[in-house]
Amino acid sequence: MKTLLFFLVIFFSFMTNNLNDKDALLTPYEKGNGNQTATYEEAIAYYKMLDKKFPEIKLQEFGKTDVGKPLHVAIVSKKKAFDVAKIKANKQLILLINNAIHPGEPEGVDASMMLARDLVTQKKWRKLMDDIVVLIVPAYNIGGVLNRSCCSRANQNGPEEFGFRGNARNLDLNRDFIKCDSQNARDFSHLFTTWQPDVFIDNHTTNGADYQYVMTYIATQSNKLHPTVSQYMKTDMLPALEQGMKKAKFEMCPYVYSIGSTPDEKGIMEFLETPRYSTGYSTLFNTIGFVPETHMLKAFKPRLEATYAFSVSVLETMLKDKEKIRATRAKANEEVMNAQTFPIQWKMDTAKYDQIDFKGYEAAFVPSELTGLERLYYDTDKPYTKKIRFYNHYQTTVEITKPYAYIIPQAWKAVIDRLRYNNIKMHQLNKDVSLPVESYYIEDYETGKYPYEGHYLHSNTKVSTKQNTIDYYQGDYVVITNQTSNRYIIETLEPEAHDSFFNWNFFDEILMRKEYFSPYIFEDLAVEILANDAELKAEFEAMKQDTAFANNAWAQLDFIYTNSDYYEPTHKRYPVGRLLIESKLDGVVDF
Ligand SMILES: [Zn+2]
Repeated sequence: MKTLLFFLVIFFSFMTNNLNDKDALLTPYEKGNGNQTATYEEAIAYYKMLDKKFPEIKLQEFGKTDVGKPLHVAIVSKKKAFDVAKIKANKQLILLINNAIHPGEPEGVDASMMLARDLVTQKKWRKLMDDIVVLIVPAYNIGGVLNRSCCSRANQNGPEEFGFRGNARNLDLNRDFIKCDSQNARDFSHLFTTWQPDVFIDNHTTNGADYQYVMTYIATQSNKLHPTVSQYMKTDMLPALEQGMKKAKFEMCPYVYSIGSTPDEKGIMEFLETPRYSTGYSTLFNTIGFVPETHMLKAFKPRLEATYAFSVSVLETMLKDKEKIRATRAKANEEVMNAQTFPIQWKMDTAKYDQIDFKGYEAAFVPSELTGLERLYYDTDKPYTKKIRFYNHYQTTVEITKPYAYIIPQAWKAVIDRLRYNNIKMHQLNKDVSLPVESYYIEDYETGKYPYEGHYLHSNTKVSTKQNTIDYYQGDYVVITNQTSNRYIIETLEPEAHDSFFNWNFFDEILMRKEYFSPYIFEDLAVEILANDAELKAEFEAMKQDTAFANNAWAQLDFIYTNSDYYEPTHKRYPVGRLLIESKLDGVVDF
């Protein structure tokens, strides 16, 4: 009897411990009413608890964000390797999951906490996690996560409270991947390029049309992704993910970016995610990127479950295709290092589209009781499945030939800093030297009238080129274009690229003239200049056929001035030189 009692005591204490253990592992979401998302403090405390309890999970800090709190990353590694070199040597794949870039869209925060736990506690995953290391950013926009309220997303169905889209500087971090105004983006760039993930997920919730899907997805735009990786993504990974999600009862379709007022009117188009956006940025490093977008009108619970299921589907596909993913990315990296030409601008091909099945709701326009005008209305009692057009082809419109190296004067520190955040290899000139380079001159650009994410963004930039010999100084930077990060280098340093540093105002200083002339003095000199330059004189006379020009004395003098030796050569000259001849670096760079 005594022995039986002893065993009973042991059994019950084991059960209670187990229950306590299980309880301790529940996330705040799981303990709550199903419509609550963890606060910043709760999320970090949870990962700290996982870190303490499981040797396979490590919570690391990766710099400090704008709000003063550190950017965390939780590393789930079954082999307990937390060093990137070791992980790459182990030939493990890396999945990076980013959460709360838009803190009002927090499903990923809670789903990832559950996923991290399940990966180390569930038998199925423990067996499979030999080949993948999962990195989770618990909350990227920490300032926004802390700025919690009930209502900053007017059209969203829960949770009860959530954070705000702007960060501590009111920046949208999903526009900040190139300009890196936020400390968050600087730290993230460092994290991303240090770990070089094979696959990247950036969790979101969408606004927009109503339809039946709980989740839609943006995959890296396939024409922008390296062709080898793109081919794998389109033919293998996307069908597998769609199937996986269907099995999990969350059938998906591509992100609904309607061309007309409803998806079935003129179809939907694929989003051109330029590098300012998360998956546009990850594309620069041949990483397959996904933005799963849960639908704002569905309840928080199914949205969270779909987000969890999407990560699981990605993991399952990565496990199944691990060799393929490794091989295609290795090939892409190799090709990017050696390629001579690079596309830098794309536009949608309006003649090409796929037909996809779309599960929507019939829409109608009804009179508004508020305005008396027509308003759009989706009838959820009238679901439909229709074929709609999906415009998902983008054409290259500008392509450039890479130089051997870009030469960046050290004066442009903000640019150098950004290259450094991204682990771009740079050398410095060991002495002052004149180098023959190809220079760009900014011929044309448009500028936004209103500030956009803290900038007056340029677009439609056009350049001309000229061969120059330019003086550079000891300490100026040399970026050789033989790197796996070539696409980052080229799409930031080529001024005509969509999200170039030029377009983001990093070189605005060159657009302003520093010297002018006094017309009453220059007039006599101008006559002399024309007398000594027949070609310029002919051009000048031709210009005078234009009445406005003929009636504007200042414009005439300025035309002669800007075509003379008196005009400053650095005006509109892009300071980053394109060095075409490798041997010119002999003796001036220590390799
Ligand atoms: Zn979002």
